[in-house]
Amino acid sequence: MLATAEGIAAVAVETPQHAGLTATLDYHCEHTLPPGTMVRVPLGRRQVPGMVWDRAAGAALDAAKIKPIADVLAAIPPLPAPWRQLVAFAAGYYQRSVGELALAVLPPELRKLDAPALARRVARLTASTTTTHEAAPAPALNDSQQAAVQALATMAPGTTLLHGVTGSGKTEVYLQAAAAALAAGRQVLVLVPEINLTPQLEARFAARFAGHRMVSLHSALTPAQRLKHWLAAHLGHADLVLGTRLAVFAAMPRLGLIVVDEEHDPSFKQQEGARYSARDLSVWRGHNEGIAVLLGSATPSLESWQRAEQGAYRRLTLSERIGGGALPRVRVVDMGTLARVKGEEVVISPPLLDALQQRLRSGEQSLVLLNRRGYAPVLHCGACGWKSGCPHCSAWRVFHKIDRTLRCHHCGFTERVPRACPECGNLDIHAIGRGTERLEEHLATLLPGARIARIDADSTRLKGTLEAQLAAVHAGEVDVLVGTQMVAKGHDFRRMTLVAAVNPDSALFASDFRAGERLFALLMQAAGRAGRDAAQGSASEMWVQTWHPRHPLFAALAKHDFAAFAASQLRDREGAGLPPFASLALLRAEARDVVMATAFLHAAARLAAAAPEAAGVMVYPPVPPPISRVAGVERMQMLIESRSRAALQRFLSVWVPQLTPLAKETAHRVLRWAVDVDPLAI
Ligand code: ADP
Ligand code: ZN
Ligand code: ZN
Repeated sequence: MLATAEGIAAVAVETPQHAGLTATLDYHCEHTLPPGTMVRVPLGRRQVPGMVWDRAAGAALDAAKIKPIADVLAAIPPLPAPWRQLVAFAAGYYQRSVGELALAVLPPELRKLDAPALARRVARLTASTTTTHEAAPAPALNDSQQAAVQALATMAPGTTLLHGVTGSGKTEVYLQAAAAALAAGRQVLVLVPEINLTPQLEARFAARFAGHRMVSLHSALTPAQRLKHWLAAHLGHADLVLGTRLAVFAAMPRLGLIVVDEEHDPSFKQQEGARYSARDLSVWRGHNEGIAVLLGSATPSLESWQRAEQGAYRRLTLSERIGGGALPRVRVVDMGTLARVKGEEVVISPPLLDALQQRLRSGEQSLVLLNRRGYAPVLHCGACGWKSGCPHCSAWRVFHKIDRTLRCHHCGFTERVPRACPECGNLDIHAIGRGTERLEEHLATLLPGARIARIDADSTRLKGTLEAQLAAVHAGEVDVLVGTQMVAKGHDFRRMTLVAAVNPDSALFASDFRAGERLFALLMQAAGRAGRDAAQGSASEMWVQTWHPRHPLFAALAKHDFAAFAASQLRDREGAGLPPFASLALLRAEARDVVMATAFLHAAARLAAAAPEAAGVMVYPPVPPPISRVAGVERMQMLIESRSRAALQRFLSVWVPQLTPLAKETAHRVLRWAVDVDPLAI
C-alpha cells in the first residue's frame, strides 16, 4: 500500500468518533512521505497535528479540494508499521477513529510542537547519559523460578501467564526474562497498574539494569518529561520502558518482551475516550510483533486464567514464597455470633482487637483495610429522615470530619456540614456507616498509645505525601495502618504481620458480576502484605470479618486456593453466559434529559434489530447504571452480548458508524454517547 499517490498523502488527524470523520484526509505534499511521518496540516481554520497513514486500497481522491501539508516533523523517524498496525487494530476493536487513537496515544507535547521546536528537543536528547552505578547482582533462582525462566528463554513467541503468590519471586522472573531480552539487544516494555504505587518495582529494575537506560511513561510526568521519555523509546535510546496502560502504545523499534505486572488490575482498562485494555492490547501486540508477553499475577483475571486453562497461554506457576515464608493464616470472624452491645455496631471484633493488641505489644505492624474513604458514607436526620444526598447526582454525599464537609465523590460538590438538619432544623443529625477516617478515630480509642496512620485518596492528595507516609510505615514509625485498597497493592511491608479486612461483605452481593473476583484479588493481595519475612511469616495472619463466613470465596481464601476460586467463578460465569464465556459491549448515553438518552438507545436498538449482522448478538433493553445521575447529567446504558467475540465485532463495526447520524437525528440538545467494548463493569 502506498501512502502517497502522486504527491498526495493520506493523513490521520485527531477527530473524535462523534464528529463523524472516521477515515483519513488527503493533503498535497512535495515529496513522498512514508506512512508514520508526523505532520501538521490545515483543518478548517486551524492547523492540527496529523500522521501520514497507509492509504486504504482504492480510496477516491478529489484533487481539486486538497490542501498542502503545512509542516513535516522530520526530526523523528516515522512511526513504524507494527505501531500503526497496533493503532489500527485498537481503533477497529474499540470502535474509534484511527486518527483519534493515533494522535491521542502520542505524548501531548508532540502534538503541539512544530518542526523546528521538535528538532531542538531531539537534538537535546542525545546529550543524556546512562547511569554508571554498579548493577545489583541477581540472586540464584529457586527451582520453580528456574523452570519459569528457562521455559521463557526456550519459548517461541507467545503469551505466558505467570501465576505466583505475592513474594513467590515473580518480579525476579521478570527481571531475568528482561535481562535475556536486553542481552539480545532488544527493548523491554514493563506495564504496571499505577506507577506511584510501585516505586519498589521501578527501583529494582533500575538497580538491576544499571548501565541500561530506563525511562518511565505515565500521566503524572510533566509534558516535557513525557515527550523526552517517549522519544527515548521511539529512537531506541531507552532499553527499558516502565509505564502505565498508556505505555502499551510506546513506539519501540527493538521491542523484544512485554511484561504486564498484576495483569488482573482494572486500571489497565482506559475509562474514557478509546476504552482500551492495555493488557489485551499487549497480548495482541506481542502476537503481531512475534515476541513474548509475560502476564504476571497472584490472582489472574478470569479471562487470562481461562485462556491458560484452554492452552492458549502457557501457564507457569510459582507455588512457594521465597525463603519458605508461610502464607498468612486466614482467620474468618463470624460477625453473626458476636454478642451485640445494645445499639452499638461492632466494628472491630474482640478476637481481632486481641490480635491487634498483641501485635502492638510485640512491636509488629498491622494493616486494617476498609474500602471506603471519608468519615461516614452518609449523614442522617432521625427526626425527618433527611439524608445527605447530592443535589446533582443519584448518590449520597460523604461526611469528611477532618474539614467538616459533605463531599460528593462523583461530581465533587462540597459543602460545609450543616449544624442542623436542613429539612427540619433538628440539631441531632448523625453519621451512618463508617469510612477510613472514622475507623482511624475508632482504632485510636481502642488502642490508646498506638501510632495510627491512614493512607487513602484523601490523605495522599498532596504531591509527595504518599511517599512520605509509606516511608514512615517502612521506617517502623507506624503501628497500625488504616487504608483503602491503595495500600493493599504491591508494597513490600517487611514488619507487617497482621492484615484485617473489617467489612468486605458488600462486595459479595454487589450487582457487578466481577465484584467477587475483585474482592478475592484484593484480599489475596492484602494477605500478601503480611509475613513477607520468613522469620515472621509463621505468625502472620489475615483477618476477615464477615456475616457470611461460609461463603465459598472465604473458604478458597483460607486455603490460598486461587485455582479453586477461579474454577467456581468460571462455572458461575458459564452458567450465566458472562465473560469469559461471552463478549460484552455497552452503549452508554448521557443527557440532561433521561427521556432523550433513552430514546437514543431505543432508536439504536431498532437499528440493531434491522441489521443482518445482529444475528447471534443480543441487544438488551436500556437500563440506568448503578449511579444514574452524575453532575446533573442522566445516564442510561444498553448491554450488547454475544457468545462469539467475532460476531460481536462484526456487528459493532456495522452498527456503531450509524450511531453518529442517529444521535444527531434523535437529539435536539446535547447527547453524549460512547461504546465500551469489554466493559469492566455493567
Ligand atoms: P513477587 O514479585 O512474586 O511478589 P519478588 O520477586 O518480589 O516476588 O520476590 C520476593 C522477595 O524475594 C524479594 O525481596 C526478592 O528480592 C526476593 N527473591 C526473589 N527471588 C529470589 C531468589 N531466587 N533468591 C533470593 N531471594 C529472592
Ligand atoms: Zn430532619
Ligand atoms: Zn454529586
